[in-house]
Amino acid sequence: MSVPVVRTVAELRYAVAAWRAERLQVALVPTMGALHEGHLSLVRAALSRAERVIVTIFVNPKQFNSPADLAAYPRTEETDAAMLAGAGAHLLYAPLAGEIYPEGFSTTVSVASVSEEMEGRFRPGHFDGVATVVAKLFLQSGADCAFFGEKDFQQLQVVRRMARDLDIPVEIVACPTIRERNGLAMSSRNARLSPQEHARAPRLSEVLFEAAAKMASGADAQPVLAQARRALEDAGFGPVEYLELRSSASLAPLTRASEPARLLAAAWLGQVRLIDNVEVAENDP
Ligand code: AMP
Repeated sequence: MSVPVVRTVAELRYAVAAWRAERLQVALVPTMGALHEGHLSLVRAALSRAERVIVTIFVNPKQFNSPADLAAYPRTEETDAAMLAGAGAHLLYAPLAGEIYPEGFSTTVSVASVSEEMEGRFRPGHFDGVATVVAKLFLQSGADCAFFGEKDFQQLQVVRRMARDLDIPVEIVACPTIRERNGLAMSSRNARLSPQEHARAPRLSEVLFEAAAKMASGADAQPVLAQARRALEDAGFGPVEYLELRSSASLAPLTRASEPARLLAAAWLGQVRLIDNVEVAENDP
């Protein structure tokens, strides 16, 4: 079995129109490829919700901050297509660059507030790139629902806000982070870690889970965060760009877990920038 691949908006719309004529629900799973179990979990969640699942693979130049990171991003479309066929996806949309950014392209979708801090601060312009491409993918596909990973928790909030603000009739579904057995959040960038770095990388999630447990039992965030930052630095991470306790709903900073919260971090390990986040149970004494 293989998965049909389309590369133009016209072909995508043609396929979706045929499904619509049969009154089938259509789900979208946007990715940048180099697929792993995390992506496949989104595909499976989409298959359980909709009768037809489109996966998109587009390495979006507008969401990269450095040309080197863009150039180094893994591109493995053949393997990806085989994985998608195995998972049961119905269509792979791997657009040509000109289908997303035609000659003279001049529009940017920019979401304020939720995109300004954390990733937004350290990767200026990143979320404009994400919001613009995801808005286009929603409008090109006309999907009923779209699946995103909590691995990129801030991105999820940016996408939700964008769809709501622009009245795009798509339901955004969040899926839990898939981790390796040692706790490391799966990521296409993990392939760029050296064997030694790969062995150290799980410390990031370990530190986050330990700190989250302390905050869930009522500890103030500030000392716990300072200790967690030191633990990461001791384990060879650096710089630790941010390590913050935020409201899950609004991403507003919190001094303790007085409402459902999330602990989010970005840290470099050698040449690779890792991000992760964990839930912090509400502590309401
Ligand atoms: P990417 O290809 O990295 O842009 O990711 C595409 C989608 O897969 C995004 O919604 C990510 O949040 C999601 N994703 C990436 N890694 C994971 C993971 N380990 N667990 C769950 N979802 C993930």
